[in-house]
Amino acid sequence: MNNSILLKIENLKVWFEIRKNILTPPMYVKAVDGISFDLKKGESISLVGESGSGKTTLGRTILRLYEPTDGNIIFEDKDITKLDFKSLSWYRKETGFIQQDPFGALAPHFTIYKILEEPLLINKIGTPAERRDMILKALEEVKLTPVSDFIGKYPHMLSGGQMQRVVIARALIMRPKLVIADEPVSMLDASVRIEILDLLRDLQEKHHMSMIYITHDLATVRAFTNWIFIMYAGNLVERAKTEELIENPLHPYTKALLEAIPDPDPENRRRMRKVPEGEPPNLINPPTGCRFHPRCQYVMDICKEAIPEDIEVEKEHWVRCWLYSKG
Ligand code: SF4
Repeated sequence: MNNSILLKIENLKVWFEIRKNILTPPMYVKAVDGISFDLKKGESISLVGESGSGKTTLGRTILRLYEPTDGNIIFEDKDITKLDFKSLSWYRKETGFIQQDPFGALAPHFTIYKILEEPLLINKIGTPAERRDMILKALEEVKLTPVSDFIGKYPHMLSGGQMQRVVIARALIMRPKLVIADEPVSMLDASVRIEILDLLRDLQEKHHMSMIYITHDLATVRAFTNWIFIMYAGNLVERAKTEELIENPLHPYTKALLEAIPDPDPENRRRMRKVPEGEPPNLINPPTGCRFHPRCQYVMDICKEAIPEDIEVEKEHWVRCWLYSKG
């Protein structure tokens, strides 16, 4: 594998089995259905999609919190899908997870010090004095200062923004090479969202980590990550560098998402289009062909019959849509 690549995802599928009862055949929710991409060291991706698009399932599967049904997750030349529970402890140190809900992510009966010490103890890192240094430094990095004001507090004594800073400090304390942040600001007040996103980007760049930032909100990602990936109904439908995707969107779904971003100018706001009508599809029985076809204004006969290939239309700009197929 190219040694600048940290993570390689190959045809990853995550299907959840459901059964009405033991006599009926199983059905499968195809939450992630054949996704492939590379993430280079130090680069960041915004993974954007509506609720139910499979983006959180993809993130959790990359962390091996969910079991993949098929495909490979290659991290620094090791296939993570082949590791057993014991071998995964190495991978846990290399990865960090920032949850959506800081209120539920922190143990309420632990002090902030104890919360940050726990991953170090589990992974047998450092002496007590070294651990204390790491904890104080982690709190300084997320700007919870003076740190002496915070280490003895319990989560309920902090604001939502302060709690999310503790979640970030815990995720980064072992200097992971890959961080997955799942809607990290969606439950916070609008006034602190930008601060938290700026903090996350600064720490990602400072420590040269790779990051996957999961969000439903395309408006927040413009200046935040190197790449934008658009996810729809379990598939990646478009991938490009951030500027390229914003300036030159190709997939009809991406165009609709961009056109639906509120514009402060009232004249532009009047011309704004909405996200296409209709609901994201049922993933037990997704539409044939292109899964977006029931909502697409450009739908053609072939779209209902055949799944579009992932095509590199321009350099480092991939799209799954029959409008761009040369066949
Ligand atoms: Fe629309 Fe067809 Fe492209 Fe799907 S493949 S997005 S239905 S034009």
